[in-house]
Amino acid sequence: MSLFLRVQRPMRGVITSANEVLISVELAAICGSDIHTLVGQRSTPHPCVLGHEGCGVVVKSSRPDVREGDRVTWGISTSCGSCFPCSLGLTNKCENQIKCGQVLIKRATLFGSYSTHIRCPAGTPIVKLPPALTPQLAAPINCPLATMVNALSKIPPVPRPGQPGASVALVQGAGMLGIYGIALLKEAGFSKVYCIDVNRSRLSRSADFGATPVHPDQAWPNALDPKEEIVSPDSIDVVIEACGNKDVLQQGLKTLRVGGTYILVGLVHKDSKLNISSQTVVTKCLSLVGVHNYTSQHLEEAVKFLSLHHDKYPFSSLMGPVYPLSEFRNAVEGAKSAHFFRVGINPHT
Ligand SMILES: [Zn+2]
Ligand SMILES: [Zn+2]
Repeated sequence: MSLFLRVQRPMRGVITSANEVLISVELAAICGSDIHTLVGQRSTPHPCVLGHEGCGVVVKSSRPDVREGDRVTWGISTSCGSCFPCSLGLTNKCENQIKCGQVLIKRATLFGSYSTHIRCPAGTPIVKLPPALTPQLAAPINCPLATMVNALSKIPPVPRPGQPGASVALVQGAGMLGIYGIALLKEAGFSKVYCIDVNRSRLSRSADFGATPVHPDQAWPNALDPKEEIVSPDSIDVVIEACGNKDVLQQGLKTLRVGGTYILVGLVHKDSKLNISSQTVVTKCLSLVGVHNYTSQHLEEAVKFLSLHHDKYPFSSLMGPVYPLSEFRNAVEGAKSAHFFRVGINPHT
């Protein structure tokens, strides 16, 4: 499989179709889904240019809204604007979409971020980045952050702090999705956001983003140490699953209050057959919502959110070591080790 490309020339003549944008990649980030492809847990057409997360500078554009020299990030899939899902506003589920990092080279050359340049086809969301958003901050915006912006858009209006029944959330998973979700929930006005994860190191980092960390051993009323904070049953307004582990569903359903909302984000793989009682969902009048990727509007909101709050939370610390493209295999090993939230690739070094 061809996983990445080093392009030697500026490629100014590469654009042949209308509304395409050629971007010089500043920094790419390795996503867990890329690892799934590399270890064979997800099938991807190949040869392809793998990778979807990143940011860069526009080298050439045939779009009126995107100019040469703009620093930008891009959406991870295109949309046509005219199919049925697009007509519903679900452009993230466009029937004619091309997915970044998952497309045969012959079909849409260079639509992947592990490359010096990425060629974004017509219909790719492109959002300008303010100078304050460094490559380390900006590279993961177009996957975990934009996805969590979409997740939060599914939450019905809830009471704010100071109002009766101020809202409380539980985030299951302290990876990138979970960490961004916690900060988004805090800034959305949630008075308390619990975070639960079996990985104690990641769990402790969640506190830096506003969470009350709770280890699964201590989360429930039969906790060994009664002084530890617990998550009471029937007490949570919103639970977000961001860990990809189907076994957390029962806990989540138990903690939700009557009329609560459960948003599933991470369970997007084959091993996701659920073992839950629909009786709980029905009798507690719960809403179960699935979220997959995001629209261009969510990407714009994600850039806005990080622009406003990058000084308040240590988002830049989420990017671990940055490798040159020539050390791609070492970068993948670094990403697999799970010591870092993200590992970067600078394709120009
Ligand atoms: Zn990703
Ligand atoms: Zn469409």
